Amino acid sequence: MAIDLHTHTTASDGTDRPSDLVTKAVAAGLDVLAITDHDTTGGWDEAIAARPVGLTLVPGAEFSCAFVDADGHRISLHLLGYLFDPDHEGLRAERARLRVSRLGRGRAIVDNLIADGIPVTWNQVVEIAGGGAVGRPHIARVLVENRVVASVDEAFANVLSSRSKYYVPKADSDIFDAIRLVREAGGVAVFAHPLARRRGEVVGDNVIVAMARAGLSGIEVDHHDHEPRDRVHLARMAADLGLVGTGSSDYHGTNKRIALGAYTTGRAAYEQLFSQPTAREPVTG
Ligand code: AMP
Ligand code: ZN
Ligand code: FE
Ligand code: FE
Repeated sequence: MAIDLHTHTTASDGTDRPSDLVTKAVAAGLDVLAITDHDTTGGWDEAIAARPVGLTLVPGAEFSCAFVDADGHRISLHLLGYLFDPDHEGLRAERARLRVSRLGRGRAIVDNLIADGIPVTWNQVVEIAGGGAVGRPHIARVLVENRVVASVDEAFANVLSSRSKYYVPKADSDIFDAIRLVREAGGVAVFAHPLARRRGEVVGDNVIVAMARAGLSGIEVDHHDHEPRDRVHLARMAADLGLVGTGSSDYHGTNKRIALGAYTTGRAAYEQLFSQPTAREPVTG
């Protein structure tokens, strides 16, 4: 059984429409696909309506969060939520707040680029986002279009990096509040790419322990941003803490090089992760 629990569509910063993604999932040999757009459930209905018979669809989302330590030092992180109630008022309001924050922060990054003479307009970004939750990959594509950089990867390596002088953070959710909200909404919470060092600073093991205590059910172990030694470490942590270790592609269509199903979750892990009662069920049959 091939199971990919982390993918993006045009509802956020992926390039495949939800209806195309479910078709591609079958072509890629997947039996189970989760759609996890950033801070939105906007792709759920279209994906469910277009789901080919035989593909199990797990509706989810990837929440923009931050861990803030006692000194006020902030590390951004991503939380996957699955099978939560999309109408849970608290979680719905938090998604809306995060999407509004993405707009303001995207605009601020664009303003910083413009102030330095880099050709880019906010209108282009909005157009390329096409109504989806706005993110840096949209700005990156405008920079490619405008020939500022040769590729989205080059944009992320330089001007759009979290270490760049143009970078502006989002108003992320506190990670512990987010875990609590996902659970309250009847969902399952998984820490996405905990050791994706390329993207910026990562949290220590102590934070993962605290997240587990707060109601986390799993951590992504197999992810393209994890070094082999980090995967070994995370698999051990998962075992020690009673968390489920998952694997997933974090597919973004042509915005990233990674293929659908490039990393997958084992069947036993999948069954364990979703053995708890949830507000929704995977869409199957
Ligand atoms: P944002 O959510 O606006 O902060 O943008 C971060 C998103 O960009 C994440 O979903 C990443 O998966 C994606 N991303 C990070 N690095 C790259 C890259 N090199 N190429 C394309 N997308 C990337
Ligand atoms: Zn993304
Ligand atoms: Fe992520
Ligand atoms: Fe992602």
